Amino acid sequence: MEDDEPCVHERPDRESLLALTVDTEPDWGISGTQAVREVLPELLDLLERHRARATFFVVCEVLQACGRTLRRAARRHEIASHGVTHRRLDALPRSEVRRELAESRRRLSGELEAEVIGMRAPFMRVPSCWFELLAEAGYVYDSSRGRVYPSVRNVPAWRWKPMRRGSVVEIPPTTLRVGAIPLSLTYLRLSAPLGEKLLSREGGVFYLHPHELARPALASRLRVPLRWVLRRGTGKPAWGLLERLLKRWSGRTVTCRALLEKHGFLDKVEGRWGKR
Ligand SMILES: [Zn+2]
Repeated sequence: MEDDEPCVHERPDRESLLALTVDTEPDWGISGTQAVREVLPELLDLLERHRARATFFVVCEVLQACGRTLRRAARRHEIASHGVTHRRLDALPRSEVRRELAESRRRLSGELEAEVIGMRAPFMRVPSCWFELLAEAGYVYDSSRGRVYPSVRNVPAWRWKPMRRGSVVEIPPTTLRVGAIPLSLTYLRLSAPLGEKLLSREGGVFYLHPHELARPALASRLRVPLRWVLRRGTGKPAWGLLERLLKRWSGRTVTCRALLEKHGFLDKVEGRWGKR
């Protein structure tokens, strides 16, 4: 097998789609934007080469540093919200959560000239009455359910489907075929080369962070043991993993909106996305 050939254990179902989601946030979710600034243009080039589409869940804090690149992303991909800041929403007062939801949607729509209908909570931690708050702020779908580590709260690929939550549709990130392990670049990196053999046939929702594709040297500012976990397999090996994933789902890597449309939950009416 050639090096750049997909390491395929099971071929994807003919009908399956993979929503590629990019949590576009300050580096390592902590601070700084060097990694995200370096990686984003190259990531957009890679997606274009593979004719892939993606949903970028953007934190407003990176708008200033990456505005131009994100406007480029908005012309081809979907822009959704990952908050004004990258704070855990379940730790904030209700008024602050409302502000995070409304202001991020307003700023991303305005500054990137995008129709923003989706939300992913930072660290996938949500406060009570989450779906009511989302509906109030005008969101149509949410992709926050689960944990960023292996957990029974994560939704297995075989059980995955969009779910109505009041007037909002929920599309959780998916898992690998075993162990309730998130279908994310993080776990493909950490479990390499085994993780790639555990990709499900059903597709679903995959996520990654730009800093995972950055030069490992950039992570040297992190403290141990965070540095070890966040550096393992980053840079070149991570680009290789992503490229093999794009080849595996060639022509079927889509935005969250397209995935919802395929499942019959969304329609584009008079140029705007809405629930069916
Ligand atoms: Zn995040």
